[in-house]
Amino acid sequence: MNQPVKITNHLPTAELQALDAAHHMHPFTDNSALAKKGARIMKSAKGVWLTDTEGHKIIDGMAGLWCVNIGYGRKELADAASSQMLELAYYNTFFQTSHIPAIALAAKIAEVAPEGMNHIFFAGSGSEANDTNIRMVRRYWDIKGQPEKRVIIARKNGYHGSTMGGGSLGGMSGIHAHGGKIAGITHIGEPNWWEQGGDMTPEDFGLMRAQELEKAILEIGVENVAAFIGEPIQGAGGVIVPPSTYWPEIQRIVDKYGILLIADEVITGFGRTGNWFGSTTFGIKPHIMTIAKGLSSGYQPIGGSIVCDEVAEVMGSSGDFNHGYTYSGHPVAAAVALENIRIMQDEGIIDHVRNVAHPYLMQKWQGLTEHPMVGEARLVGLMGSIALTPDKASRAKFAAETGTVGYKCRERCFANDLIMRHVGDRMIISPPLVITPEEIDILIERAWKSIDECYTAVKAEGLWQAR
Ligand SMILES: *Cc1c(COP(=O)(O)O)cnc(C)c1O
Repeated sequence: MNQPVKITNHLPTAELQALDAAHHMHPFTDNSALAKKGARIMKSAKGVWLTDTEGHKIIDGMAGLWCVNIGYGRKELADAASSQMLELAYYNTFFQTSHIPAIALAAKIAEVAPEGMNHIFFAGSGSEANDTNIRMVRRYWDIKGQPEKRVIIARKNGYHGSTMGGGSLGGMSGIHAHGGKIAGITHIGEPNWWEQGGDMTPEDFGLMRAQELEKAILEIGVENVAAFIGEPIQGAGGVIVPPSTYWPEIQRIVDKYGILLIADEVITGFGRTGNWFGSTTFGIKPHIMTIAKGLSSGYQPIGGSIVCDEVAEVMGSSGDFNHGYTYSGHPVAAAVALENIRIMQDEGIIDHVRNVAHPYLMQKWQGLTEHPMVGEARLVGLMGSIALTPDKASRAKFAAETGTVGYKCRERCFANDLIMRHVGDRMIISPPLVITPEEIDILIERAWKSIDECYTAVKAEGLWQAR
């Protein structure tokens, strides 16, 4: 059998960078600044290790974009894709047809999902799935004879994707500034105690933030509210772990007013928090969960909505739902996701997170707070963040514009062959779930070195001052 063509004799890095700059528009990027600097070009990867075109071995503390949960280079997933392409490369699930991979994956997701969540609507990504959710919750209330229930309450600094619907659900002003947002979405405050909690205890602050949901429902009128959406832990917003009081109070309010609860599990799903879903970790009972990323460990683009029995029953009670994507339940993506879940189950990857990787990383991660610039270190499962600050006791911000120091730290990490992202002046990690203690040691060693080099630069540049 012929082997697939491998692009081994690639152009020199500088030429690739020039072509990239000339023709490739990068997402969430200042493309003219990148053109001057040149992108770092990744070439191959195995486990938690990336290799760039210059041959550097980089430890991937972000699992790509929070997605490569089982690690890179698993042949079983490549084989699943290859045999599915030959068996049935494509067919749709519109017009009363189905196919084996979509059926098998839907049943498998229902098996690992919380009780009572047995129905899957497939999409190609997390953004698309959230667009589905907007339309589904509005259609649900239509069918129930309350078509005026259309408003969705979401949170400032939440991230739900960057399509028109996903970007509107998200609470990021930078996204809204580019292209606007759709009507009927309201944002309440986020449970970010470190930055916004002032003199309150985390518990009181968490309650206060959750009660903003009740205030919003009463202001808008419950007869106009369809749903609330939130990430169990805000990811792109900076890995903000909510105070323990937050989700129970949100659940109380959602139950009291009978609105739908959407948990955006795109990051927190599929083992990231040490359970199959973040909703389990936080005791949340959602009606709909958004999934993508870890569903296929990023090997194929696929997302979807896991829908509870009651909502699915209502949706199925009144003719067509006029919604769907050409690639909803794409057979190759579904076959790969199915194999990904099989590996997670057979290799006990969630047990590895709970019993090995989380406890080991937790201890090392908290050790970073011994550095003078690290204020707090949070980690749930394998999703963590640290706050950089010039004064730990007051949780102060740097005198420089927010993100200046975080960006410097990220640049040091990049130079030290560690991928760790910054959100403002928080550094975040979300490594592949298969990371070993030895690899965690390397990650922490590089993180400490990078933080320390950043600290030296911050002092030298006169930025070591509170705002
Ligand atoms: C990444 C992400 C999305 C969007 O997923 P895409 O596949 O990039 O469209 C939605 N919600 C959350 C919580 C995410 O982290």
